[in-house]
Amino acid sequence: MIGFLAAAALQMTAAEQCDVELVVLGVGQDGGIPQINVQADPAWEDESLRHRVVSLGVVDHESGTRYLFEATPDFREQVHDLNAIAGTSGAPDGIFLTHAHIGHYTGLMFLGFESMSADNVPVFAPPRMQDFLTNSGPWSQLIAYGNIRVDEFQPGPRPHDVQPGEPDYSENPIQSMETSRLRVDPLHVPHRREFADTVGYRIQGPEISVIFIPDIDSWEEWAEWGTRIEDIVMENDLVYVDATFFDDHELPGRDMSAIPHPRVTETMDLFQDYPDEIRQRIRFIHYNHTNPIRYDDSAETQEVLERGYRIAREGERICL
Ligand SMILES: [Zn+2]
Ligand SMILES: [Zn+2]
Repeated sequence: MIGFLAAAALQMTAAEQCDVELVVLGVGQDGGIPQINVQADPAWEDESLRHRVVSLGVVDHESGTRYLFEATPDFREQVHDLNAIAGTSGAPDGIFLTHAHIGHYTGLMFLGFESMSADNVPVFAPPRMQDFLTNSGPWSQLIAYGNIRVDEFQPGPRPHDVQPGEPDYSENPIQSMETSRLRVDPLHVPHRREFADTVGYRIQGPEISVIFIPDIDSWEEWAEWGTRIEDIVMENDLVYVDATFFDDHELPGRDMSAIPHPRVTETMDLFQDYPDEIRQRIRFIHYNHTNPIRYDDSAETQEVLERGYRIAREGERICL
């Protein structure tokens, strides 16, 4: 593991500069920015203010393989951009899904019969998510027609009580995806689970490791499950974390106390006394259309940067 990446790494434009790289393909919450029915959002007029739904891509330039994290409503553009960076075409070599909320998996539909008719794209998802895709239309048709296959990929044992209706994975070993230059491990996280369980991912490249946790209900609940975000940040080089809401004043007229997701302010406070090089590892992602960090010139964006944190933006490229 090396220390924090220099800002120069972000300015890299030539794909050939690293063997394996990660690219940020989307940073918004599930509903996208601008969001439907928010007529006054300036991004309808000014396309430079738009953001795509949260997604990361990984390209292994040596083997020519590409991996996508999440299949979002912006899947078409994100696959295009991933292929443009890799200099390839076709479906990704693997798609990692975190959970069954609309911003994170519905892009799979473009792999189907009505669109690109992909051939057996491996889709990695936690066990209940695999069951959901296998047993519910229209996703089951993707499997029946051989457009995708849902690989066995199970989060490891976790200490929290198994919820009603949830399988107990405690007997299952951790399963990961591993190539000669890349390893991806799921991290089970607490997040409302109507149809499926939720994971984040740890992506280990030849040099550095990156954590991707776009959706989580709370850091405290995760700690009760046995994983502390403080340890995750200390043990990895870059950590993309849930930044759905900036603070509790963001949804006027709504009591936000019952709405999950660690606020950006809360996460910043948590790491306030850590050294600069640790705080710089944290990159906020998955922001709601109401979150002012979506704008480069907002006071809140300025505050995040001044406090030593980073905000993920589309096009950010990192050598893994
Ligand atoms: Zn989400
Ligand atoms: Zn969610």
